[in-house]
Amino acid sequence: MENIQHSFDVIVVGAGTGGAIAARFATKNGLDVCLIDRKPRDQIGNKICGDAVGNEIFGLLKINHPKNEELSCHIKGAKLYSPNLKKCLSLIDPKQTGYIVNRLEFGQRLLNEAVDTGIEQFLDKTMALDLIYESGTVAGLKVKLENGEKTNFKAKIVIDASGFYSPLRKQVKSSLIEKNLSREDSILCYREIVEFSPKDLEVEDPEYISIIIDQEKAPGGYIWYFPKNESSVNIGLGAFMKYKGKVKELYTKNVFKKYIKISKYKILSTGGGVVPVRRPLWSCADNGIILIGDSACQVNPLHGGGIDPSMRAGYYAANSATSAIEKSDYSINELWGYNHRIMTGFGAEFAALDLLRIVLQTLSNDDLNFGLERDLLTGEEIVELSSKGGLNLSLINMAVKAIKGISRPNLLLDLNFLRIKMNEISKLYKNFPDRINRFQEWKEKVIGIYDKVNKMIVGTKKK
Ligand SMILES: Cc1cc2nc3c(=O)[nH]c(=O)nc-3n(C[C@H](O)[C@H](O)[C@H](O)COP(=O)(O)OP(=O)(O)OC[C@H]3O[C@@H](n4cnc5c(N)ncnc54)[C@H](O)[C@@H]3O)c2cc1C
Repeated sequence: MENIQHSFDVIVVGAGTGGAIAARFATKNGLDVCLIDRKPRDQIGNKICGDAVGNEIFGLLKINHPKNEELSCHIKGAKLYSPNLKKCLSLIDPKQTGYIVNRLEFGQRLLNEAVDTGIEQFLDKTMALDLIYESGTVAGLKVKLENGEKTNFKAKIVIDASGFYSPLRKQVKSSLIEKNLSREDSILCYREIVEFSPKDLEVEDPEYISIIIDQEKAPGGYIWYFPKNESSVNIGLGAFMKYKGKVKELYTKNVFKKYIKISKYKILSTGGGVVPVRRPLWSCADNGIILIGDSACQVNPLHGGGIDPSMRAGYYAANSATSAIEKSDYSINELWGYNHRIMTGFGAEFAALDLLRIVLQTLSNDDLNFGLERDLLTGEEIVELSSKGGLNLSLINMAVKAIKGISRPNLLLDLNFLRIKMNEISKLYKNFPDRINRFQEWKEKVIGIYDKVNKMIVGTKKK
């Protein structure tokens, strides 16, 4: 293709929620940016999703909140149900209030606003194939253009925002970045958007998103029922990866038939996807490369929300790239500041929630019903965990829980041990080393906490 530029300050791969924000702020900071996506322009943002996003991120980035055709409805918070549906925890905090968006329109708006900042080059239908290295540092990309031609693009820094299946993460030459993810750390989802005749049914609690944890109906994941507007819902199920090929079946049997009880409905959209539900990658950067969003496992492990963190990370990545380029230093030593920002911010929260997720996935429905009904884990605690990544439990509070949990002492002991470990890991992440030379020591401490929680799980199974 003629007239295309081949050399940039930054190339952003993927124009989803993370990539669009990274490209927008890097351009705003004065960098020469190339943004590419393999999809055609009018399909960017068209992602199978629950479509829920909190309002906090829009204030943080000082960008417009969703409105008009991109906004489906406002939500006040989340309701978390026990498997037997007898207990409902209301999770209401500023981060949980927000929007259900029309995903395509939302993605198109983020893309258009990014392009309007004056991005040097935006190419759709363009696929990143491989990383190019020079002297051990990422120095660009091999790409396949719309016309099928393969060519090289040079960049001082590559920002990988290419989502869960990132081809770049798998090729990165790094001892810091995990190339492959464990199957246990991802959830396979299937969802439909279903429209009812408004005469037949009003959506049940249109101001809340509902989440049901049920290890039998949605093993390892959960069922969700999100209002879209007064006459339609986004309804779906997530389960362990080992249910590949069976998730739609689980959804039809355990979700659709249970919740859509009327005969007149229209299915507006169907589809599945995978969400990483673990703490962020050990390192979300290395020499010449920064990873953001799903590519870096920056998704809330408890509810799978990744729109907000991908946008946050896009913003941090743009700022880190700018300061690295100002100093002409694209090494991991300079880019470490991005890691520090991620790990001491939502990384601390996600590491604590990752431990909670791992333990929740091993509990039976009986344990979950008991634990939630007796308030061994309350809505307030989950909100505190989600907003601070840690818990302040008073002795009185612990004593009250001990009395309530007396008929299941092992469950109570496990949950208390988990609380302690969640607080420990959160503190560790908040003290993430500001220099790479203390990273190994820090990493070993994190591994130590995971080992202890895993030993507790194995011990509980043996009892
Ligand atoms: C079923 C489901 C429900 C979800 N529900 C919610 C929810 O309700 N709320 C929430 O916050 N999060 C939700 N998530 C998670 C959320 O969708 C993601 O975390 C978020 O979209 C991550 O954004 P991203 O920019 O990292 O990646 P993506 O949005 O996946 O964007 C990646 C982009 O990269 C492009 N790309 C990929 N490979 C290449 C390549 N080789 N070359 C060029 N371009 C490439 C893709 O075309 C795409 O446009 C859900 C996910 C799933 C699967």
